[in-house]
Parts: sequence; C-alpha cells; structure tokens
Amino acid sequence: MSSLPEFEYATPATPAEAAALLGPDWTDTVVYAGGMDLLDLMKERITAPKRLVNIKKCDALRFIRTDDDGALRLGALVTLAEIAASDTVRTAHPALAQAAGLAATPQVRNMATLGGNLCQRPRCWYLRSEDFPCLRKGGDRCYAKEGENRYHAIFTEGEPCVIVHPSATAVALSALGAEIKVLSKGGATRTIPMAEFFLTSSQNLQRENVLKPDDLIVEVSVPGAARGLRSHYIKLREKQSYDWPLADVAVAARLEGATVRDPRIVLGSAAPVPHRAAKAEEFLANKPLTEENAARAGELAVEGAKPLAQNGYKVTLYKVIVRRALMALAGGEEGRS
Ligand SMILES: Cc1cc2nc3c(=O)[nH]c(=O)nc-3n(C[C@H](O)[C@H](O)[C@H](O)COP(=O)(O)OP(=O)(O)OC[C@H]3O[C@@H](n4cnc5c(N)ncnc54)[C@H](O)[C@@H]3O)c2cc1C
Repeated sequence: MSSLPEFEYATPATPAEAAALLGPDWTDTVVYAGGMDLLDLMKERITAPKRLVNIKKCDALRFIRTDDDGALRLGALVTLAEIAASDTVRTAHPALAQAAGLAATPQVRNMATLGGNLCQRPRCWYLRSEDFPCLRKGGDRCYAKEGENRYHAIFTEGEPCVIVHPSATAVALSALGAEIKVLSKGGATRTIPMAEFFLTSSQNLQRENVLKPDDLIVEVSVPGAARGLRSHYIKLREKQSYDWPLADVAVAARLEGATVRDPRIVLGSAAPVPHRAAKAEEFLANKPLTEENAARAGELAVEGAKPLAQNGYKVTLYKVIVRRALMALAGGEEGRS
C-alpha cells in the first residue's frame, strides 16, 4: 500500500463550521469521516484533495432517535456498528440494522459512518487501479464491459460504465423510503429523497450522487413507519466472515392479514444505483404473501437484466433472495417492525 499524498487538515467542532470549510470543488476540499474509503482512494492515488475536513469532532452528528412524528433519525456520524446494535433501529426497521450489521468487518463497522457509507465510491477494480484510465477517471472506455466483470452490474442497458453501487445501507434505506438532509456552506439545508440521491452512470460518469462540493450530510431520516411496516435484508457473499455482496436485497411492506400492501423491493450490487424492482412490486401489491407469489416477484425482479459475460449467475441469486426476503416478512420477529 502506498503512502498518503500531502494534505492540509481541519477539525471543526460543529456541522456549521465544517460546512463553512467545504468547497469549491473536490480536488480542493473533502469531508473526512471514518476515512475507511477516502484514505484508501488517496493511497491508491485515485483522489488527491488538498484539504480534509475531519468531522469526527462534530458530536451533533452522532444520534439515533425516534421523533414525535414517528420518523427514525440518524446522524451522519453514527457508525455501522451502532446502527446494527441499536434496539431503536432493529425494532423499527430491521432491514437497516441487518444491512449495517452484515457490511464489512467488525473493525470496519466500528469506524465506518453512515454518511461515508452512502458516499463511498464503487469497488470496480478498474476504477480503483491507477493503471486503468477508465471512463470515471476521464478515459475513453469501461474496461469492465469487455474485461473481468463477474461482480459488476446486470442492469446494464444504456449504462456507459457498469459499476455496482457499493453501499449496503443505501439498499435498505431505499426500500424504507428514507431522506438525506444536507447542510451546505452558506448554512442552507435541503432534504433529498433516497430515490433522487444516487446517479446512474448514464446521468454522470464522475459522480455517483447529487451532492455538491460544499454539501455536508447531517442526517438520514426514515419516515414514520406506517403501522405494521415490516422489512428484511439479505446479502449473499462468497466469503462468510466478511465480504462485499455478490447480490443483496432489501424488502419492505405492510401486511394486512396475509395481504401485501405498498411493497418495496430494492436490489443491491445489481446496477450503478440501488435498483428498485418496480415490476415485482406492482405484481405483489395487494396479493397474498405466498411462496408462489414471492417466487414470481423474484422472477419479475430481474426482468430486463442484461448480464455481462461473467455475471449471469447473479440473475439466479436475485430470484432466490427476493423470494426469501419476502417470505421472511411473513414469519417471526426477524422481519417485523
Ligand atoms: C474490507 C472492507 C469490506 C467492506 N465491505 C462493505 C460491505 O459489505 N458493504 C458496505 O456497504 N461497505 C463495505 N465496506 C465499505 C465501508 O463500509 C465504507 O468504506 C465506509 O462505510 C465509509 O465510511 P467512512 O465513514 O469511513 O467514510 P470516509 O472514508 O471518511 O468517506 C467516504 C466518502 O464519503 C464522504 N463523506 C463522508 N461523510 C460525509 C458527510 N457527512 N457528508 C458528505 N460527504 C461525506 C467523504 O468525503 C468520502 O468521499 C467495506 C470496506 C472494507 C475496508
């Protein structure tokens, strides 16, 4: 592993001070939270900001609470370990606790923050190697399309680059209809729905989300759970001790008796953004939650997939985990909120 390039370092004590230090672009200044991804990218010479704004002393960004409106609110500095262990999260939105708890290793989860997890860059080995001038680094081709692509996207239609979105919490938060609150340099705040936060590679080849250089994520909120909302997350990986997903899925729905209301099915590691399986949701809405319907939803979830030369196996994985995750909603405490 290479050494770090030189950089300046600031340690503000409040979110407002931190936001005031940001901008004008990412080659100048970036937010430094747990550092799990940022320092990696700097060591690999994929990014070389002049200044890091270390937000770890901004204690106002560390909280997990449920407000009077029923919304679950999490500060940007909450760690994956804290999310996974939180009774509040586990009770209200098990899929989020499961996604956080299955990500990475215990050591990484103790450092990795929610804001950083959402903003980490894709794991594509061509992007991560300085030897490959790929599209995301201003080059003229996506090496994965014709190269080693077993972990890449299966929803590839119209995508010039076939990365998969890397954040586990994003998959769960997308299924739960979460929102991201951002504070920018001038002190203004805005709220971005998860569905509008991430960018496909056809939308933007340099950035994976809509944040601007002077934006600081301060909070993620999940709206007040409609009574009886259930959720569940499943991740399949090659190495069970810790690994990135081959395929993961989060599902959320209400059950009235056995009838499914407002289902949301989001596939991770399948596309450049968390992939909403709209046809499967439409099929399942207002139907009984049976093995047969869950299996059909699994089939529909991968409709339209155009796998690459080495990752056709993922299609089968999604069919299986969508069915399993949906059936988990029906049974036991695990999928219940
Ligand atoms: C061995 C290993 C296995 C892993 N497996 C998984 C996995 O299975 N699933 C998974 O989801 N992740 C996995 N990860 C990734 C890890 O979870 C992320 O690197 C980590 O969550 C990043 O969080 P951080 O706080 O360290 O972010 P940092 O590295 O500090 O920052 C990452 C990016 O987010 C930006 N950022 C951070 N906080 C904010 C904020 N508040 N506002 C605006 N921008 C911000 C930074 O500027 C930077 O661009 C793995 C990592 C390792 C090393």
